[in-house]
Amino acid sequence: MKKGYFGSFGGQFVPELLMPPLLELEEALESIVQTPAFQDELMGYLQEYVGRPSPITHCRNLSAQLGLDLWLKREDLNHTGAHKVNNTIGQALLTKRMGKTTLLAETGAGMHGVATATAAALLGLNCVVYMGAVDVERQNVNVRRMELLGAEVVAVQSGTRTLKDAINEALRRWIADQADTHYCFGTAAGPHPFPLLVRDFQAVISHEARKQFLEKNGVLPDVVSACVGGGSNAIGMFHHFVPDESVQLVGVEAAGTGEPGCYNSAPLNLGTDGVLHGMKTKLLQTGEGQILPSHSVSAGLDYPGVGPEHAMYHASGRVRYGTCDDAQALKAFQTLSRTEGIIPALESSHAVGWVMEHAGELQGQSVLVCLSGRGDKDMGIVEEYL
Ligand SMILES: *Cc1c(COP(=O)(O)O)cnc(C)c1O
Repeated sequence: MKKGYFGSFGGQFVPELLMPPLLELEEALESIVQTPAFQDELMGYLQEYVGRPSPITHCRNLSAQLGLDLWLKREDLNHTGAHKVNNTIGQALLTKRMGKTTLLAETGAGMHGVATATAAALLGLNCVVYMGAVDVERQNVNVRRMELLGAEVVAVQSGTRTLKDAINEALRRWIADQADTHYCFGTAAGPHPFPLLVRDFQAVISHEARKQFLEKNGVLPDVVSACVGGGSNAIGMFHHFVPDESVQLVGVEAAGTGEPGCYNSAPLNLGTDGVLHGMKTKLLQTGEGQILPSHSVSAGLDYPGVGPEHAMYHASGRVRYGTCDDAQALKAFQTLSRTEGIIPALESSHAVGWVMEHAGELQGQSVLVCLSGRGDKDMGIVEEYL
């Protein structure tokens, strides 16, 4: 495979001035991240700070209702309540090892910003978070959390003043401050080597889940499923199952309201090939290549692109990519809460919702879903919708 590519997707479509820090990062991936000393230190933090390994939970009540065997990988139980911290602690540790002092990040709803600010506080790094001005308004609690954790939040006024503009501005800031700053990208997307770097930090999810499922059941699951925004929890959940041909992998994109032609967050199902944020991938865009606004009830899935490794698995057919719309996700949010006493993040509710919608097809099968985060943060939005 060509360096930095997943099939025909990926690459480094960036201004010349961004190449030095990307090359430095590529080098660090080999000389630092892949050493036993780094991996040992990271594992120490994942165990005593994040609370890993996260368990897998057998959903006995919902399984009986659906006629299948449903298991959850509990990333909602991590410190800060989602999988994102696996990545930010890894990148923060790498930043220290590279001799840099500042973590720069983009954030949409604010969850990656909070996870980055958390890792920065833990490891004594400065933290600057770029956030669209619209998101600063509507996600004010997360802005205050980031500031409490010691981060500086920069409100981005360009474009639609949301996540994609925050990424553009953060990349610009990185050009200026590359000597002492590491860009802590929040998902398995962007220019090479970010899709690899983030995938490797999130692969701990499937490393644990595969072993845990085998220990409890003696066999592998029939289906492994996860929601796909930029694609980091899903690629982490899939990674160690990819060679297991018997395991059907299912990524679930957000279909928006589900009406024909509606704004959505399903570039693999509904997008076309293009270039955004330094990578070639599937995008929601017009025929002229203008990026379309995306929509999902869950802020974390609201992104017009997707990581290039998913675009490759979509093209090769190794992973099946389905969709779940807002109403189906809200139904799953309520159902999992009622039947199992677990309030899922609206993002994760899309994966659970897909399973509920496809229960007929999945009768008698074992299904392991990545519960990427907990839903406390979504109470306001859910109450608005219901
Ligand atoms: C951010 C987020 C997602 C979406 O991001 P991916 O990179 O696709 O994983 C999913 N679930 C939760 C809980 C999130 O916070």
